[in-house]
Amino acid sequence: MGSSLKRLYAIYGASGFGRGVMPLAREQLIAENIQNYELVFIDDAECQSIVNGHKVYSFEAFLELDAADKYVAIAIANNRVREKLVQKINLYNLKHWSVIAPTLISMDEVQIGEGAILCNYVHFTSNIKVGKFFHANYFSYVAHDCIIGDYVTFAPGVKCNGNIHIEDHAYIGTGAVIKQGTPDKPLIIGKGAIIGMGAVVTKSVPAGVTVVGNPARILEKK
Ligand code: UDP
Repeated sequence: MGSSLKRLYAIYGASGFGRGVMPLAREQLIAENIQNYELVFIDDAECQSIVNGHKVYSFEAFLELDAADKYVAIAIANNRVREKLVQKINLYNLKHWSVIAPTLISMDEVQIGEGAILCNYVHFTSNIKVGKFFHANYFSYVAHDCIIGDYVTFAPGVKCNGNIHIEDHAYIGTGAVIKQGTPDKPLIIGKGAIIGMGAVVTKSVPAGVTVVGNPARILEKK
């Protein structure tokens, strides 16, 4: 009977990040009191059939499974891969899913787009807008009046201060610190820029470049 079919929830990616997100997903489903479901991994590499107690399916095998509804959260840090997988998921009757750790702090007027993954101890203060498929790894924060685009990735411990605009597909490395902007002149991290781990970003970063160090400087391609 259709009504007895379970719901399927999947974490796409059974590698490093995905295995860190799975326990958050498990906790979230319990907290939401969802009944009659199964929580699995999707991974297209040939890997074990069970990882940390959860079945692993290829995307094609996942599509074949019988379920009332299928929800997918993409837990792969590479934002180009994430976009490619979103396009693939959109071709089928699947729902995007956000996984949000119970320790998230989110103050006033915080808007977050679909498909986000927010790990433990992520902190948003107030008046923040974030696009689709954002990842914030643990201990990252975003302060007031920031605007963050689509497919942006924060590694662990990113310190994103107030009045910063981060454009689509930017990747911010572990422990990077970004100086605050002002309301009339926000600090801008351009589209697809990469901020190296531990970088101290004191001024706007153009689209497409990589910056490293303190103060952060453009890493020239050799
Ligand atoms: N992956 C996949 N389909 C794709 C691209 C990647 O299933 O089209 C999987 C890949 O097999 C790997 C995971 O995504 O298991 C990415 O893991 P990686 O260690 O590269 O990144 P992280 O877990 O740190 O995001």
